[in-house]
Amino acid sequence: SPAKPSNFLRGIIDRDLAQGTYASRRWAGSPGDAAHHAAGEPDPAKIRTRFPPEPNGYLHVGHAKSICLNFGLARDHGGVCHMRFDDTNPEKEEQEYVDAILDAVQWLGFGWESNFNGVPESHLYYASNYFDFMYRAAEALVTAGLAYVDEQTPEEMRARRGDFTTPGTDSPFRSRTPDENLARFREMRDGQHPDGAMVLRAKIDMASPNINLRDPAIYRIRRATHHNTGDTWCIYPMYTFAHPIEDALEQITHSICTLEFEDQRPFYDWLLDRLAELGLLAQPTPKQYEFARLNLTYVITSKRKLKALVDEGVVEGWDDPRMPTIVGLRRRGYTPEALQLFCERIGVTKSDSWIDYSTLDGCLREDLEGKAHRGMAVLDPVKLVLSNWAEVFADQGGASHLEPCALPALPHPPEGTESPVRHLTLGREVWIEREDFEEVPPKGYKRLFPGNKVRLKGGYVIECTGCTKDADGRLSEVLATVVPDTKSGTPGADSVKVKAAITWVGAADGVAAEVRLFDRLFTDPQPDAGGKDFKACLNPDSKQVVTAYVEPSLAAALPDQKFQFERFGYFVADRLDHAPGKPVFNKITGLKDGNWK
Ligand code: ATP
Ligand code: MG
Ligand code: MG
Repeated sequence: SPAKPSNFLRGIIDRDLAQGTYASRRWAGSPGDAAHHAAGEPDPAKIRTRFPPEPNGYLHVGHAKSICLNFGLARDHGGVCHMRFDDTNPEKEEQEYVDAILDAVQWLGFGWESNFNGVPESHLYYASNYFDFMYRAAEALVTAGLAYVDEQTPEEMRARRGDFTTPGTDSPFRSRTPDENLARFREMRDGQHPDGAMVLRAKIDMASPNINLRDPAIYRIRRATHHNTGDTWCIYPMYTFAHPIEDALEQITHSICTLEFEDQRPFYDWLLDRLAELGLLAQPTPKQYEFARLNLTYVITSKRKLKALVDEGVVEGWDDPRMPTIVGLRRRGYTPEALQLFCERIGVTKSDSWIDYSTLDGCLREDLEGKAHRGMAVLDPVKLVLSNWAEVFADQGGASHLEPCALPALPHPPEGTESPVRHLTLGREVWIEREDFEEVPPKGYKRLFPGNKVRLKGGYVIECTGCTKDADGRLSEVLATVVPDTKSGTPGADSVKVKAAITWVGAADGVAAEVRLFDRLFTDPQPDAGGKDFKACLNPDSKQVVTAYVEPSLAAALPDQKFQFERFGYFVADRLDHAPGKPVFNKITGLKDGNWK
C-alpha cells in the first residue's frame, strides 16, 4: 500500500486483499448503493468502510480521527467509504445536525461520491431507511426461536442480568413459544402496549461471561416522531441490533469502531451469523475492528458535554473558536490539511492514551509555515512619533511625507517562485507595541529606550529620544528620530548596526482591527476524565478581545484567509465577522508552544 504510516488496520486490510477475502463477494440486492447493481454482480469496491455518526450534535476532533481513518483507508486501498447516519434513535436527532455533519466531512476533504461503470454513485445512507428490514430480521429471529418478548420491569430485568461475578437467571417470559412471541411482537409494533411495557430480547445465554450476550434487548416501544420516518413506527431497534445490520446491508467489509465496543463484538458476530443462516444476509458478513478513541488534553470529546457548553452559554455556539468541534476548529483557523496531518501523526492503536494538544498546533504550524503570508500587526498599540521626519524628508513634502516600504509576504517562497510583495508606508507617526519601549530598560533589553537605536522592520533605523506621558503618568507617545539613509534594501542599510528590529504599522495606512485572542477553555488537562465536573475547571480567561492596528495587506484579507502575524503567531480573518473595512482576526496559535498572547 502507499507510503502512509502503517497501522494494524492497514495490516488487516492488506491481508484481506492479499487473501481475496471479499473477492468473490456478490451484491445481494440489499438496500445501499445497489441502485446501480444487479443482484449477483461482483462488488467493484474491494473494501468498504463507513463513518456512522448519530446526528445528535456537531462533530468534534475525535470524529475527525474516525473520518480520516475510514475515508483514508478506503481511498488508499481502492475501496469506498460510506457516509451513514446512524439515526435509529428518534429522540435527539435533527436535520440541523445532519447538514452540519455532511459539511464537516466535506470540509475535511472527504466525499461519498464515486463512480460505478461510469455511473455516479452517492454513498450517503440513513440507517432509518432500513427499519423495514430490521423489523423483518427481528421477526425472523422470533420465528426461529432466537428472540422473545420480555414483559419484566426494567428493575426485574436488571436484577436477573447478574454481574461480572454472578451469572444471570432466565426471565419467566423466556420460555414462550415462537408463535406467542410473534403475536406479542406484532402487538408492540401495532401500538397495543404503552412505552416501556415490554421489549424484544435476543435469546442467547443468561449465564454468558460476556454480559452483552445475556439476552440483550433488541427492540423497544417508544412513541416519538422520527426526523425521517415520522410516526410510522412506535417501536425502534436498539443500537446494538441496528448497527451490525446497517453494516451488513451496505456490505461493509471492515466496520471500525472505538474500543468501548469490543465487548459488543460477540453479539455483532452472533447476530450477523444467525441472519446469514436464516438467508437474510449475504456472506461474508462484515467484521468489526476496534481502535483507541482520541483523547486530547484540555479538550472535551463528548457531544453531550459540548452541547451543555452551548446550551448554557459558556461558549457562543457550536462554532465558537474555542470549541473542539470541527466547525469551531475551522472558525479558529485550523486547516483540513493540519487536521489530516494530525490524524496521520497520532496513528491508530489498540490502547488508550492522551495526545497532547501541542501536537495539533504543531501540525497547524507545519501546514501554514510555508504558505501563510506574513504581516505586521500591533496588538497593544502605542504611538511612536519621529520628531525629525519633516526635516529629513523636507524635499519630499516634509511632515506629511509617506515613505513606501516593501516586504516579502513569504520569506521562503516555493522553489522557482518569487514571494508576493507587501506594500506599506512609513510616516511621521507609527504604531508600535507598548512592550517595545522601556523608559528605564531592564538588563539585556534591546528595544526602544532613550539613546538606543533599533530598526523598524523593513524601514529605517530610528533612535529613541524619550516619551510623553498623560496626566496620570501613563505613557502616551514614544519619541524618536529617524536616521537618514538607513532604509532596508538601500546601500546605506547596514551603515548603522542595531541589536533589534521591531514590528510596526504606519499610522497613515494602518487599519484598526478586532483581534480575538484565545486560551484553552479548560484549566485541567483532562477535564473529561474520571467523573470530573468539567464545568468546575473552565478557564475564565479563555477569550480576550483587543483593538489592534494591522498593515494594509492584512486589512485586505479575505474571510478565512490565514496569516502569520510576525512575532505573534498564526491568525485567521474570521470567516463570519471579518468584512472589508471591518477586519476581525482570530488567533489560531502562537509561533511556539505556550505563547498564546
Ligand atoms: P459522543 O460520545 O461524543 O456522542 P459518539 O461516539 O457517540 O460520540 P457518534 O456520532 O456515534 O458519536 O460517532 C461516530 C463515529 O465517530 C463512531 O464510529 C465513533 O467511534 C467515532 N468517534 C467518536 N468519538 C471519537 C473519538 N474521540 N475518537 C475517535 N473516534 C471517535
Ligand atoms: Mg454513538
Ligand atoms: Mg455518544
